[in-house]
Amino acid sequence: MARFKRILLKLSGESLMGEKKYGIDEKRLGEYAQQIKEIHEMGVQIGIVIGGGNIFRGLSGAGKGFDRVKGDQMGMLATVINSLGLSSALVAAGVKARVLTAIRMEPIGEFYTKWKAIEAMENGEVVIMSAGTGNPFFTTDTGSSLRGIEIEADVMLKGTRVDGIYTADPEKDPTATKFDEITYDEVLARGLKVMDLTATCMCKENNLPIIVFDMDTVGNLKKVMSGENIGTLVHN
Ligand code: UDP
Repeated sequence: MARFKRILLKLSGESLMGEKKYGIDEKRLGEYAQQIKEIHEMGVQIGIVIGGGNIFRGLSGAGKGFDRVKGDQMGMLATVINSLGLSSALVAAGVKARVLTAIRMEPIGEFYTKWKAIEAMENGEVVIMSAGTGNPFFTTDTGSSLRGIEIEADVMLKGTRVDGIYTADPEKDPTATKFDEITYDEVLARGLKVMDLTATCMCKENNLPIIVFDMDTVGNLKKVMSGENIGTLVHN
């Protein structure tokens, strides 16, 4: 039995690179599609938001002389590219998937509305909500918080390359310890970089719990959905 009825899965663009330095690693993309297929077969309604950091980030573009708003728009288009790639991999794996976009660009994807997303999920389609919030100066973490709240997801599953939230960066500090669960207030008080502040505050104010877990280890998504105690749960 799946632990949640409807989820918002946030995938990082950067993880899509796999071993590469840029772009999309087909192996990682295929693994993501298989993991999503596994939980789709459990009857879970799945909404997905994917980042674009493997292709372009507005903030780092601004550091190289790009106009910030244009750079952020490039970043949002990068999320559309990743979303199309993931939908293609899902369809190849036998899972119906649809890309919605926060910026009008038919026929690449239909313009996002909450009702279109919910209707498709109720019909068994995986819905990938691309182009972030559609606005510059936001991130896909904020986009996924927003979409998670809008589609009335039970939880946001934030797939990363670390296996949860630690007292300090485990890649830099060997004494860092992992939280099994933590409150939003404590995340904020400790200044833990789980998501950016805007995204964290939105989830806290709208009571959307998140589970941060290692999505790059195949099988973990199903483990989270089956109720195994992996990752870190953040709640009010
Ligand atoms: N972005 C934006 N508005 C949004 C979502 C994303 O402007 O609502 C841009 C922003 O420039 C960001 C880029 O898209 O740097 C890629 O998203 P993000 O860095 O969040 O991707 P990830 O780190 O998850 O790969």
